[in-house]
Amino acid sequence: MDTVDQQTRSNIMSRVKSKNTSPELKFRKGLFARGFRYLLHGKLPGKPDLVFPQYKSVIFVNGCFWHGHDCPRFRIPSSNVDYWKAKFERNMANDKRNHEALRSLGWRVLVVWECTLTTKKISASIDQAEEWLVSADIHL
Ligand SMILES: [Zn+2]
Repeated sequence: MDTVDQQTRSNIMSRVKSKNTSPELKFRKGLFARGFRYLLHGKLPGKPDLVFPQYKSVIFVNGCFWHGHDCPRFRIPSSNVDYWKAKFERNMANDKRNHEALRSLGWRVLVVWECTLTTKKISASIDQAEEWLVSADIHL
């Protein structure tokens, strides 16, 4: 059974609710160290975590739990299933709508999942984000 006990769930929730969590901070600092400059929590649809005006690109750092990532970190809690299902569906629909709104404004959108920001994986994730950023056609 996919169950998450109460304590685990509240840990997950408190971790993903707050912005500027440590993995996100490390990811961001990694890009900064490679010379990328960005704005934080821009006033764009969905408030992207990182905005790179120079590349007309935004990055969302998404918590797997809240945003319903297809990975082991996401599981629907075993109680109040209908409530949670509705909540996740709403979150995912919001994400989709925000990404579409951004693209229609000419922004490129990258989603980085928190499960790719573990100590083991973070530098590969920063590499990928760097590649993605410099692949932009737009260099203002
Ligand atoms: Zn994940």
